[in-house]
Amino acid sequence: MAAASIALHPPRLQGPGKAALPPRIPNRSRVTVSGTRSFATRAGSNPGNVSIPKQWYNLVADLPVKPPPQLHPQTHQPLKPSDLSPLFPDELIRQELTEERFVDIPEEVRDVYELWRPTPLIRAKRLEKLLGTPAKIYYKYEGTSPAGSHKANTAVPQAFYNAAAGVKSVVTETGAGQWGSALSFASTLFGLTCEVWQVRASYDQKPYRRLMMETWGAKVHPSPSEATESGRKLLAADPSSPGSLGMAISEAVEVAATNGDTKYCLGSVLNHVLLHQTVIGEECLEQLAAIGDTPDVVIGCTGGGSNFGGLAFPFMREKLAGRINPVFKAVEPAACPTLTKGVYAYDYGDTAGLTPLMKMHTLGHGFVPDPIHAGGLRYHGMAPLISHVYELGFMEAMSIQQTECFEAALQFARTEGIIPAPEPTHAIAAAIREALECKRTGEEKVILIAMCGHGHFDLAAYDRYLRGDMVDLSHSSEKLKESLAAIPKV
Ligand SMILES: *Cc1c(COP(=O)(O)O)cnc(C)c1O
Repeated sequence: MAAASIALHPPRLQGPGKAALPPRIPNRSRVTVSGTRSFATRAGSNPGNVSIPKQWYNLVADLPVKPPPQLHPQTHQPLKPSDLSPLFPDELIRQELTEERFVDIPEEVRDVYELWRPTPLIRAKRLEKLLGTPAKIYYKYEGTSPAGSHKANTAVPQAFYNAAAGVKSVVTETGAGQWGSALSFASTLFGLTCEVWQVRASYDQKPYRRLMMETWGAKVHPSPSEATESGRKLLAADPSSPGSLGMAISEAVEVAATNGDTKYCLGSVLNHVLLHQTVIGEECLEQLAAIGDTPDVVIGCTGGGSNFGGLAFPFMREKLAGRINPVFKAVEPAACPTLTKGVYAYDYGDTAGLTPLMKMHTLGHGFVPDPIHAGGLRYHGMAPLISHVYELGFMEAMSIQQTECFEAALQFARTEGIIPAPEPTHAIAAAIREALECKRTGEEKVILIAMCGHGHFDLAAYDRYLRGDMVDLSHSSEKLKESLAAIPKV
């Protein structure tokens, strides 16, 4: 392994005529575990000292079949760029619809990324040892961003492009609070005001996420709220509604659509969001190359699909080019099984039907998932690009119950030290299944996990689990049948 990485990065001569000094492997040390195998590893490391990528990657450019267009919610005609103008600045609309392969990351954005990027790629050798697996497990850790997750990777460019277009104010929704805090952070850096509709259940249960947003200067409403037409309608129908992401999106979209100097930001699902997140995979490709490993399995949790796509898409490009051959696995909660139990159809991104129609895996825009702890995975739809790639057979999907996820989270926290957010515990649980299968078969697979955030504000969920109060929730097939029936006929 070390030999491979040296071959990839030949040592530079110290000066003309001088003999090559022994190779210096920056940022890595060799550790021997159990005296049998050696590991190139270092916690918090940036193998190969890679720098922040200069471009994001657009998978659409390399797909043999292009994804179906988004449609206008009323006319059902393919969306024109101008249809999106009330919601987004021109550059983000361009990125949403573009088929170009690479998009330059603006200097101003890379400058902010420098606060926490490149993020660590870590070998989970202590978890491997606990499991007794011959597999190698790596995780790409995005919890080092100021708001604690991968969401900042897109919050920063979205705030930047809005500010550059002269927008004064941005609005958004947030479920678990991760996206709202990332956008609040990014908005304050670029001088934008920010208003967030936070799903009521999360607003009540997670005051610290709300306080983070307020600390960064945002105004936070519980959703449904009295502040919007769609919110008032929802409250009239159910005054004690716990809210949902679909409802909160309706509220924020309404405010943007009816205010000239206000635009809307979305933290997942859309093409430009997945594009921005590819900074994760581009970095990781280089870091793994520096170590001399290639993944056999790439695993990520999927709510709207952005952290999974962000890590997986650059690896998918390499696979399409025939250079590597990993399997891609998306993991979703059993209570909100969008890819595994949803239908592939045109549906709205929100409850009120204000957003464009997107062809995606959906449980129906009226589906309100049970309140599992992984709030970030409680969304009725899946990114159209992920859905398309899944239909093409380029990736697999599975669902896991939350108690298995938290069991995996404790194994991870007690070996690797990091307390994961409830969402990536799904990826960790799937990786542990994979590693245990390797133990049975003796296969030495390389497993790569998208570890998209920390769980410091989710300790109430850990409390539930540790006290033995956490239960598994499955979606009700009645409820699902009902919401699938309400998908628009296109
Ligand atoms: C928002 C969020 C998710 C779910 O969104 P994706 O777009 O599927 O990544 C998962 N994990 C964390 C930590 C989140 O904040």
